[in-house]
Amino acid sequence: MKSFASLDLIEPLKRAVSAENYETLTPIQAQAIPPLLERRDVLGCAQTGTGKTAAFLLPILHHLANEEIVGKPFIRALILTPTRELAAQIGESFEAYGQFLDLRHLVVFGGVSQRPQVAALRRGIDLMVATPGRLLDLHGQGFIHFDDVDFFVLDEADRMLDMGFIRDIRRILEMLPQKRQNLLFSATMPESIVKLASAFLTEPVRVEVDRQSTTVEQIIQRVMFVARADKKRLLRHLLGDADVESAIVFTRTKHGANRVTKDLKKAGVEAAAIHGNKSQGARLRALAGFKAGEVRILVATDIASRGIDVEGVSHVFNYDLPNISESYVHRIGRTGRAGREGIAIAFCDESESEYLHDIQKLIGKSLDVDLDHEWHCPEAVPVPRQGRNSGAGGSRRPPGRPQSGASRSRTESSRRNADRSGGSSRPRWRGRGGSGRG
Ligand code: AMP
Repeated sequence: MKSFASLDLIEPLKRAVSAENYETLTPIQAQAIPPLLERRDVLGCAQTGTGKTAAFLLPILHHLANEEIVGKPFIRALILTPTRELAAQIGESFEAYGQFLDLRHLVVFGGVSQRPQVAALRRGIDLMVATPGRLLDLHGQGFIHFDDVDFFVLDEADRMLDMGFIRDIRRILEMLPQKRQNLLFSATMPESIVKLASAFLTEPVRVEVDRQSTTVEQIIQRVMFVARADKKRLLRHLLGDADVESAIVFTRTKHGANRVTKDLKKAGVEAAAIHGNKSQGARLRALAGFKAGEVRILVATDIASRGIDVEGVSHVFNYDLPNISESYVHRIGRTGRAGREGIAIAFCDESESEYLHDIQKLIGKSLDVDLDHEWHCPEAVPVPRQGRNSGAGGSRRPPGRPQSGASRSRTESSRRNADRSGGSSRPRWRGRGGSGRG
């Protein structure tokens, strides 16, 4: 396990990671930082939670700090991200890693007043983290030029494409100077991303950890078959379990998120919704309340959840199954972070068998079926497909000793899986310090 001390990073950066209580490099950091320090382009396949932000920020800060500039700095490094939340989190990481450096950064995204952003641009900045829309907006108004960009990062590229940002990305790429260092990070590597990467990366070094289609081992995953109308009762029941320290409940739509939140509040459960229709202030407040432990339950849609990095989310509830199976993997990745065990429970109603089938195909296994609840709905159990994985199989826990669906005890097959892998759940990396940041 490599330590930060062994890297050729400037001292203020080593001091900063040590202040963050990082001891050893995560696998993505061990692979990506050395080539990035040598100014190579990098194509990274890694999801949030693997330490990828430090993997690209540390070398960039190293280069920015080492280079002499004359006059006011102006966007020497540009990081594009799909969502406001992710942009804000990268901004926080910059503040942590750059705390002993004299570098300025700015996070820009839409939905908030642009006045402070413009004022900061006038004062000069070294690094900008931006969502594509607001960036192009500011450029269109003449507040931004890209002449000084030496480093360009496209983060969560797959999500960018999913969200329809491809044209914006192309427009931005056309405006960047020819000579620059490029990085592309993506949780998945479909053909579209490989094509995009080849359009702007030069002989990239490929680094890869934790492909999205392999779900993280330490997450216990179960499915509960339930009628649509009973989902809210089942959720209330499960949230009543003291083991649910903090949870994210996923819905497919913004409307659904509002409905679930309202319903929980009515039942006396403190919950906050986070989705694209909420104002930026409301989203950040909800996230801050959740991170601080004031709100135990966050109700989120897929897009809003991307990049949420909160330590110690004990449970993820898939109130609605996602119609895009990759989203399931992103969702459950919110729990079981940094070596902790997490529990992910999927609710599947009569109309969602296809989604369940696709998810199980993607992750390459059947979810354990949890029958120990009074809302079990046999009609929601998928009919076995001929010669194919039915999706409803898995190992059924025999109804016997009642066990709360949200409790931490394992079902038979997950115990067997753990036995096969040596009996313990493998942390994504060891030596993690308890900085409490995130
Ligand atoms: P990321 O994948 O960049 O979102 O990082 C996930 C979490 O891991 C963040 O809370 C980081 O502060 C934390 N982290 C990143 N690198 C390390 C490391 N080498 N050791 C311990 N924690 C880390």
